[in-house]
Amino acid sequence: MKCRFCGQKAVINMRQHKLALCKDHYLEWIPEQTGRIIGKYKMFTSEEKVLVAVSGGKDSLSLWDILHRLGVQADGLYICLGIDDLGYSFESQRLTEKFAAGRSLKLHIVDVQKEYGATIPQFALKSHRGRGKLCSVCGLVKRHVMNRIACDLGYDVLATGHNLDDEAAILFGNTLTWAGEYLLRQGPLLPGTSGLARKVKPLCRIYEREMLAYTLLRGIEYIYDECPFSVGSTSIYYKQLLNKLESDRPGAKLSFYLSFLEARRSGLFAEREEIQAELHLCPNCGQPTSAQDLCSFCRMMSQ
Ligand code: AMP
Ligand code: ZN
Ligand code: ZN
Repeated sequence: MKCRFCGQKAVINMRQHKLALCKDHYLEWIPEQTGRIIGKYKMFTSEEKVLVAVSGGKDSLSLWDILHRLGVQADGLYICLGIDDLGYSFESQRLTEKFAAGRSLKLHIVDVQKEYGATIPQFALKSHRGRGKLCSVCGLVKRHVMNRIACDLGYDVLATGHNLDDEAAILFGNTLTWAGEYLLRQGPLLPGTSGLARKVKPLCRIYEREMLAYTLLRGIEYIYDECPFSVGSTSIYYKQLLNKLESDRPGAKLSFYLSFLEARRSGLFAEREEIQAELHLCPNCGQPTSAQDLCSFCRMMSQ
């Protein structure tokens, strides 16, 4: 297999794009694609300040690397969740700090236990959220902290490392239950409102396998293990199902995601304007919420 651009030996063959590339061209191609996605969905301009949420995993570290290479002003945010199994949080923080120090990038660190009095596993024990509660508590805390730091420190936009496989799995889950409100909000860009930072996913059209190849070829050290609590989760199961589909029909995952975005753009789901109107500010933390009184984060904290 030869590189389409230079004819040298290809290191990656992307059947879904009918494209094979050598190492050098691949390492150029991924940032180019990311830049195109940022432009296509009008995620941010070159003057805007970006906060990248970095977990120490391959996608978010590579996203930070790519934004840096594209000349975007992007600082990092690492949230220490206090997940001790396999030294997960310790190791992911170490790798994130090492990455930032090696490139002289600015990294904000929020330690959940220090700031809110408990680690994620401790919060999950205290709260009464149903099955898979640790992951839902973790998601709730991460969203709250990311939004707070982005708003308080005056960033224009918050970027996460969700890749196409993540997005397709979330979409698949939401489609199985026709979760209308989630389907309305899922996408490459979620506009900001007062108290809610604009959120973007610049890797949303890039396959997980492509991100892995980028991370390895760039020599980025990342935390190899998945979060120990995600083992056996439904999102991993959906990813496996979609991978099976993709291996029989290259491009199916991308087409599933893109045709959803297109169907929604052309009005498949009618916007419910009252959803916005229903939001009001949490009397404790000031972040917008659809709950009547305290937001779900503050409710959990007060338990
Ligand atoms: P996940 O929810 O673990 O699939 O992660 C999705 C995205 O959220 C990652 O690509 C990161 O951008 C962000 N993220 C996850 N965990 C953390 C963390 N501990 N600190 C900062 N950002 C995170
Ligand atoms: Zn080449
Ligand atoms: Zn609140």
